[in-house]
Parts: sequence; structure tokens; C-alpha cells
Amino acid sequence: MGIVEEAWERSETERILNYNVDVAAQKINLDNEMRTFLKVPFREIKVQIPLKMDDGRVEIFVGYRVQHNQTRGPMKGSIRYHPQVNLGEIRALAAAMTWKTALIGIPFGGAKGGVTCNPKAMSPGELERLTRFFVTRISDSIGPNVDIPAPDVNTNPQVMAWIMDEYSKRHGYSPAAVTGKPVELGGSAGRMEATGRGVTYLTKRAFKDKKIEIQGARVAVQGIGNVGGVAAKLLADEGCKVIAISDSRGGLYNEGGPNISRVTMHKEETGSLKDYKGADYITNEELLELPCEALIPAAMECVIMEHNAGRLKCAMLVEAANIPTSPEADNILQEKGVYVVPDILANAGGVLVSYFEWAQDLQSAFWEEERVNRKLSKMMLDAYELVKVVSEQNKVTLRTAAYAIAIEKVSKAVRLRGF
Ligand code: NAD
Repeated sequence: MGIVEEAWERSETERILNYNVDVAAQKINLDNEMRTFLKVPFREIKVQIPLKMDDGRVEIFVGYRVQHNQTRGPMKGSIRYHPQVNLGEIRALAAAMTWKTALIGIPFGGAKGGVTCNPKAMSPGELERLTRFFVTRISDSIGPNVDIPAPDVNTNPQVMAWIMDEYSKRHGYSPAAVTGKPVELGGSAGRMEATGRGVTYLTKRAFKDKKIEIQGARVAVQGIGNVGGVAAKLLADEGCKVIAISDSRGGLYNEGGPNISRVTMHKEETGSLKDYKGADYITNEELLELPCEALIPAAMECVIMEHNAGRLKCAMLVEAANIPTSPEADNILQEKGVYVVPDILANAGGVLVSYFEWAQDLQSAFWEEERVNRKLSKMMLDAYELVKVVSEQNKVTLRTAAYAIAIEKVSKAVRLRGF
């Protein structure tokens, strides 16, 4: 570890990310100089956001944008609003974007942003003002050729529309400055569903590889947001039995498979899963430990850890959330024979279609959803096959193979351009 790395604020998420990078870097004999270069972010921005609340008070929020690496292209990564957002977490998620974009083969580097806030306790007006203020503070450091935000936990196409508008006020009409926008403003067909759809493609392929019959395969999904909600619906449409799904407060479980469309409607109408009739209400911990063919964490980081990994009863883990599994848990899952499809591969569909959106915006030429989904499917499955081959050839996990491929690509690009 170099002197720079010793000094800074750390998070568990960052420890996990760096561990995964180190294991892969070791496998490809990456020298220490390059290893340190690839761990230290290009730029970290931390800003104060004084916000006039609806009741007249001024509350001070803190926002972050970490830009990890721009060697292979403009940096790309989403923005989240959550009470637990901190610099270490955002730094780890920014680095994960560098590896994800390299692995899936799109010309971007990695970034991530967030504001520490509780959006559930804020009005739409407060959220709009918060977003616009955050953009004013970072607008000189983002842009179509620099760093392009997108939606994440508790942000959505409306938030992206505000970002696009605020950025455009300063820099001229710039739809390519942000992705995950409404289609009316240059968003791509299929972007909303892209991450969940990509997760579905890979889950189906992994079932096939592991000779698990998709019809009736039991799937448990943690998170009924953009990613988890879409993956659950699409897998149910494919004939899987989605036996459980949750939000931050708890989940629904029914061995027969609760009706996902009805559950989603119930959540939209009541804001909660709790009073849904026709399924048992369980905790998020219980959901993770249900016997099933596929467990899909699609909520937050660090949910599968040393303390609970031994109790998981899934045949495979498809990581739709970023960084959900610790290295200690990973080892336990490996010993149990759980097939783990790692996050930087499993959830890459979102940034992939964000790339399609950016490319469409730059050309002002828009694609039909069928074309988006066809290319999404091909590139996700190609990446999966490549990771599998590298994993088998080198007798390493899919996670180490995925990181090794990505690190090779980025480090080669760094050497070509010069540090
Ligand atoms: P979202 O805000 O739409 O949904 C998040 C879901 O997680 C909600 O259902 C929420 O209730 C639930 N949740 C929040 N805290 C929880 C907790 N402590 N325990 C259990 N559930 C909890 O967010 P999203 O866009 O669906 O993102 C989910 C995950 O997928 C995140 O890890 C995100 O980084 C990752 N991801 C998202 C995208 C994307 O395109 N949106 C792309 C790649 C990865």
C-alpha cells in the first residue's frame, strides 16, 4: 500500500472493491506502480448544498462526485440519493464503473456520485432544488466528453431531466450530458429496463449452463426498485417462480410465487409491501436465506457477508446490486458450490444501454427498442462467455476473471497513453 492510500477515509465497500482488484491484479502479475495508479481516483469532488426546505429552513447537504479513471473514454456513473452515502462508498462505486465499462467493452471510464440525504422525507420540490444546486456545483467537471451521470438508488428519469436542464442552461442544449433521461428529452428506448433485462439474460444463460430448468425455477429478489422490479417481472414472464421480493423494510414470500405485477402495483399505490394479501411478510435477512435456484440481490452493497453467507441456500447468486458480497462471504459461497455471477458483469446492462443513449444523443438519431435489446443481449452474453472462458482457463472465479479482463484492458490503455 502506498502513502496516498494509507491516508484517506475508508469504507467497507472500498475494502471489498480493492480486495477484488488485488486478487485479479496478482493473477495477471500487474506491477505495483500500475496497481496503485488504478486504485487512486483521478478526481474527487465534495460539495456543500445549502437547501431552502419547504418550511423555510435552510438545511445543509453534502454531495460527492468521484471520477475514477478516464483513460478509455469519458467517465460514466450514476448518482444516488441515500442517507448512507459517503465518500468511501462513492469512491468504490466509481472504481467499479471503470471495471464494468472495460469488461463490457464500451469506451468509457468510471465515475459515481451521490448526495447524503433522505429523499423519502423530501418533497418533489425539495428534490428538484437539491438536484439543480448539486449540478451547479459540479457542472464544470461533468459533460458529454468528460463525465456523464445516470440514475441509481432513489434517482430516476425525472432527476436526470433536471440534471440535463441545469447543465444545458450553462453549456447549451446537451442531452448527451446525462443518460437515463425520459425518451422525450433524448433518452433511449429500453434504458429504464436495461439493467434488469441484462440481469435476466444472464440468469437465463447461467440456468442453462448449470442445467437448471428455467420453468418453475425459484428466484428470490432483494429490492423492488428499477433493477429488482424489472428483473423479477421479466424472469416471471420467462416462467420462473419469483418466490420473494422486498423493499428496504421487508419482503413478501410465497412458495407459489406472488404475482409480481400486482405486487408492484400495490407498492406504487400504498408505498409499502406490508399489507399485500397473498404472501407472508418476511425480513430482508430471511429473504436472502430462502432455498432457491437463484438469489438476486438488487438493493444495496454489503448484504452478503461473513455472518450470513453460510446460511444462504441458493444454487446461484446473480449480483444485480453493486458490491453486495464481501470476500469472506465469497469464499464461503465457493466452498458451498454456489455459482456467483459477479456484479460488474451481471448489472452491466444499465451502463451498456446508457452508452447506446449517449451515442444516439451525439448523433441525434434514435433507435427502436428492438435494436437496443438485441445489442444488449449480444454484448451481455458475449461478455459472459468471455468471463467464463477466462475463468475456466485460469481456474479462477468468474469474479476474478471479470476483474482480470477489465484490469488488462485499462492498464494497456494507460500504458499506451502514458500515465
Ligand atoms: P432503486 O432506488 O430503484 O431501488 C432500490 C430498491 O432497494 C428499493 O426497492 C428499495 O426499497 C430497496 N432497498 C433500499 N435499501 C434497502 C435495504 N437496506 N435492504 C433491502 N432493500 C433495500 O435503485 P436501483 O436503480 O434499482 O438500484 C439497485 C441496485 O442496483 C443498486 O446497488 C445500484 O447501484 C445497482 N445498479 C443500478 C443500475 C441502474 O441502472 N439503476 C445499474 C447497475 C447497478
